Amino acid sequence: MVRNTGPPPAPNQSHFWFQPENSVSFSEQKTIIKALMRPRTNRDDYHTMSREQQVNLIRLRTGHNRLNAHMNRKFKLAPSPTCACGQEDQTAEHILQRCPLLDEERKEVWPSPTPLQTKLYGSRQELEKTTTFITSAGLIV
Ligand SMILES: [Zn+2]
Repeated sequence: MVRNTGPPPAPNQSHFWFQPENSVSFSEQKTIIKALMRPRTNRDDYHTMSREQQVNLIRLRTGHNRLNAHMNRKFKLAPSPTCACGQEDQTAEHILQRCPLLDEERKEVWPSPTPLQTKLYGSRQELEKTTTFITSAGLIV
């Protein structure tokens, strides 16, 4: 009788990172569920928004997103953490506040300088502006 005592065949890992565009990964689901379970001390307008808007805002707030800085440092999935503008790491703060490639879209949504805190944690109207900016800039976060 022949017994196969060798190691089990290596699982095919090539599809491990394949995800439909902008899907929600398991670890993101955990982040989102934890955020939703947390008792609310003061009501955040974010809870009144659409699920897609909520996902985008959580991704921007937590830094757990598809921007180069996170994809490069955490997953080595982006070749570099730097933004396409070449000026600094592509983070939520960079795209919302400073990226020169998005100046036009930014000025349309925020004609005057607006603090990052307002863009991520402001009133519903402010949060809507942020999700509008992400959409009009064609960004996948
Ligand atoms: Zn940039």
